[in-house]
Amino acid sequence: MALIVQKYGGTSVGTIERIKAVADRVVDTAKNGDQVVVVVSAMSGETDKLIGLAQKISASPNEREMDMLLSSGERVTSALTAMAVEALGYRARSMTGRQAGIITDTVHTKARIERISGERIRKALHEGYVVVIAGFQGVTEGETDVTTLGRGGSDLSAVAVAAAINADICEIYTDVDGVYTTDPNIVPEARKLRKISYEEMLELASLGAKVLQTRSVEFAMKYNVPVVVRSSFNNNPGTLVVQEEKDMENVVVSGVAYDKNQAKITIVDVPDKPGIAAKLFDVIASSNIVVDMIVQNVSSDGKSADISFTVPKTDSKRAVEVTGKIAAELGAKRVDLREDISKVSIVGVGMRTHSGVASKMFQTLASHGINIVMISTSEIKVSCVIDLKFTELAVRVLHAAFGLAEAAGV
Ligand code: ADP
Ligand code: ASP
Ligand code: MG
Repeated sequence: MALIVQKYGGTSVGTIERIKAVADRVVDTAKNGDQVVVVVSAMSGETDKLIGLAQKISASPNEREMDMLLSSGERVTSALTAMAVEALGYRARSMTGRQAGIITDTVHTKARIERISGERIRKALHEGYVVVIAGFQGVTEGETDVTTLGRGGSDLSAVAVAAAINADICEIYTDVDGVYTTDPNIVPEARKLRKISYEEMLELASLGAKVLQTRSVEFAMKYNVPVVVRSSFNNNPGTLVVQEEKDMENVVVSGVAYDKNQAKITIVDVPDKPGIAAKLFDVIASSNIVVDMIVQNVSSDGKSADISFTVPKTDSKRAVEVTGKIAAELGAKRVDLREDISKVSIVGVGMRTHSGVASKMFQTLASHGINIVMISTSEIKVSCVIDLKFTELAVRVLHAAFGLAEAAGV
């Protein structure tokens, strides 16, 4: 008998018919004699709809109240899914994040999970229930306030629950049948990967491939949770996310990712002296804004510098506010914001052992007239910030240039 966590995303529970189909799959698993914990997202579009409602009241709504509001979407699907399982003659029990014992820090709208007391889940399983947990949410220590885990956070709920109860596998059911060499909705030639390493998946996710939420991959890697990404619409074998294997380095580039949720902030003419960057990024970090790329250009007389950095577009207004204040204190001329950008990236563990990858990327973009605004690299990725309007073109030409449609699967 296996212990299986199954997570179903928004499209997979988008209608009552879809919820019934989920219940069928859950019951099929239970029939096998396996114990099943289900984690569900809100019905597709629901979270965006709730955000829209809040924004009709305020441009920057109170974040505690946002969490109360947004967590309701997942609560609805958890109860409906439990009902659908019961309608098939199996016992099921829905749980909110609080009831499932998911304790987080107090950073509303992007809380981190601190611990999960798996007790209540285990007890319900032991009593023969299918447990259906509302994803994307937790509660602060002392069960004071409801929190949410950031967009796409139900993936994290699933992986964290799987780790807490020591599940045999965490199955992520979505609207594509695995992790592809790039977003199959943009490049139809994209190829499904049979396996991908945690490390590559982490890079792809953090660079925008939303098929898995970044923190869920981090968590899976840290606690060695076996994850498989599959479709809830068919029975195709999915993609296994696993520890790196020897042969994986033979493939130089394994995927292309893009992220349109990017904005570039430039602080113009900051005095060039020690401590400036430290002060600036300290203030931004204390506002819980994650900075990605940073570039500093010193003027030819060496007296002042322009500091540019990227943040998620969803945080850009707040970042400009915070930066504006500190820039004035530091004696900078002004702060500019650019939102018509995106980031395209190539990822592959094989980059560690192969050279010329970055230059091939730059040449490919150049030969299609795509200007590069910023560049950053790590051991296993190269990212370029480009004009937003060239995103899809860049993804397609990079996918072709690195032969991803044809490469042998690992
Ligand atoms: P869910 O609602 O099930 O959580 P998401 O919309 O968050 O689903 O994630 C699935 C989507 O991720 C796919 O529909 C696809 O457009 C996108 N995606 C981006 N990059 C990739 C990739 N490399 N492989 C598969 N899907 C990808
Ligand atoms: N419903 C949340 C979102 O849309 C969480 C999730 O689907 O994973 O971001
Ligand atoms: Mg998702």
